Amino acid sequence: MGGTFDPIHHGHLVAASEAAANLGLDEVVFVPTGRPGFKQHANVTPAEHRYLMTVIATASNPRFTVSRVDVDRPGLTYTVDTLRDLHAQRPEADLFFITGADAIQQILTWKDSDRLWDMAHFVAVTRPGHRLTVDGLPQGGVTTLEVPALAISSTDCRRRAGAGLPVWYLVPDGVVQYIAKHGLYRGLHDE
Ligand code: NAP
Repeated sequence: MGGTFDPIHHGHLVAASEAAANLGLDEVVFVPTGRPGFKQHANVTPAEHRYLMTVIATASNPRFTVSRVDVDRPGLTYTVDTLRDLHAQRPEADLFFITGADAIQQILTWKDSDRLWDMAHFVAVTRPGHRLTVDGLPQGGVTTLEVPALAISSTDCRRRAGAGLPVWYLVPDGVVQYIAKHGLYRGLHDE
């Protein structure tokens, strides 16, 4: 499951759990992005904080793990590199790349997009009522999964934390405490 996870929230966790149940996955590997090239001008929290929040959020689920492949790879993060590194670590695994439908919407513009289809099956998790409308996707290349819990968004969590409003129950308890301890998103009201 790829994402910036800034911060990880219960929508991501429910989406991962739903995808695992629906597709019969053995494990969900959360892969926080390192330096997202497509967000070079955005104010993204340092990767180490996002990685640690993801570890805290997933720690209690034996089927959830977190990978550092994107955090540790120098340069900008591209999914083609993520999948290549995961294949190298798990040569026998049949990979599914799960992420938000809004991100998948742009997949044809991603680096080496024509190679992606042989590297993984893509799963677009979406908020209810949102449709994936992309022309030119290969037949069966992307599965869409509607997840009501995705009414929670990282943008809203950041705004709330920035405005001093509670994020309890939107993100796992340990993530609430991590955000407060490190003063993340303080003063962020302008997104
Ligand atoms: P984003 O633009 O921050 O997010 C787009 C939408 O998808 C947001 O609504 C976001 O909600 C949602 N979303 C993102 N990840 C999700 C997840 N794991 N589960 C459910 N919803 C999710 O997207 P991003 O997080 O930066 O990128 C998503 C993934 O696509 C990453 O792995 C990234 O590396 C990859 N990507 C690759 C390329 C490329 O190779 N050129 C380009 C773009 C993205 P929240 O804000 O609530 O998460």
